[in-house]
Amino acid sequence: MSDTTYVRKGFGLKAEVQDTLAADYTGQLVDMLRAREYTLTAGDTTVRLAKEFGFCYGVERAVDYAYQTRIKFPDKRIFLAGEIIHNPHVNAKLREMGVVFLSASGKGFDYAPVEPADVVILPAFGVTIQDFQTLRELGCVVVDTTCGSVLNVWKRVEVYARDGFTSLIHGKYYHEETRATASQVEKYPGGQYIVVRDMDEADLVMDYITHRAGRPTIRPALTRVAFLDKFARAASDHFDPDVHLDRIGVANQTTMLARESLAIGAAVGEAMAHAYGEAHRSEYFRTFDTICSATQDRQDAVVELLREPLDLMVVVGGYNSSNTISLAALCAEQVPTYHIADPDDIDVEGNAVRFRTIGPHHHEESLTDWIPRAGTLRVGITAGASTPNNKIGQAVARVFAIRGEQVDTRL
Ligand code: SF4
Repeated sequence: MSDTTYVRKGFGLKAEVQDTLAADYTGQLVDMLRAREYTLTAGDTTVRLAKEFGFCYGVERAVDYAYQTRIKFPDKRIFLAGEIIHNPHVNAKLREMGVVFLSASGKGFDYAPVEPADVVILPAFGVTIQDFQTLRELGCVVVDTTCGSVLNVWKRVEVYARDGFTSLIHGKYYHEETRATASQVEKYPGGQYIVVRDMDEADLVMDYITHRAGRPTIRPALTRVAFLDKFARAASDHFDPDVHLDRIGVANQTTMLARESLAIGAAVGEAMAHAYGEAHRSEYFRTFDTICSATQDRQDAVVELLREPLDLMVVVGGYNSSNTISLAALCAEQVPTYHIADPDDIDVEGNAVRFRTIGPHHHEESLTDWIPRAGTLRVGITAGASTPNNKIGQAVARVFAIRGEQVDTRL
């Protein structure tokens, strides 16, 4: 792509969009909480906000560039590959601005409606190398907002493929970021990947390695056929567990639970050493923590918040927001936790909440009388990297309202 059709650094229109961005996403109540050491008390209700929360640097940049794109090309058709970030409110704003969302298709997105005169925005998660190829052939303007932290993971996976290592990615195989990351192995012929969602799936890989090396396993290892079936959608097209688990490089989707990612990396290394010896591990196993600093900071902040006495946690973020799900999982280990997609999920009149349950069999649930109307109450709150401050503030106001307290509603 030429410099005029491929844009990675915005259009120098930051000043022109900042008032609109502020009007759409900043929140005075959150500013007030920050100014008061992240704590607000009204009557016998206290709300405590984690010290790191909400929009991360990658999301701020992606949303900023999307707004700049609209101003730069007022008359062009603008498309977006998937969602700019996983927040329904932000995506709705872009739709109001006339941005058209392309749907997923096979290994990438469906670019059928796009013509050379159009503009396509790529989200903070990035897109697959097949997508880049299609866009290059189309010749349209591409505004690439892929986060620098995601690019770092791509580089890592690319090096693994170059050196003949299979990338073992801790992530969700269907997530846009992981699809894009996994596709990087295709830059080298024979590049391979396998995606494990959690330690349970990593165990299946480790058992296979151990069994193949003729070592005893605690659990029966999967047969080759069962293994291929289990990871059919989570591994590269020609992945063969009998061939491609000898050299492994570990990476992670940037928004996973950092603690689990580190544990998986360490355990896979141990399994390699157990199966083939230390010398093999030193030569044919690599691991690199690719959790981004924004994710790490938000998880650290929530762990710090959970040291305080809390009666419940509210976590605000899209149901498909991976980093929000990680935050909710951390909270649920300690206190009753409600992962809500939007402040509207809190019904003040009926004292009800609609939320996503936590864990592998998650689903949406509703609960009434989730907050006691009287007595001392301490509520913790945090939000994923794609949640705007005004939405966090509105959730805080609704919690107070259930308790009969009106806080500043100029959100
Ligand atoms: S969560 Fe991390 S990787 Fe994703 S956009 Fe934000 S900073 Fe970038």
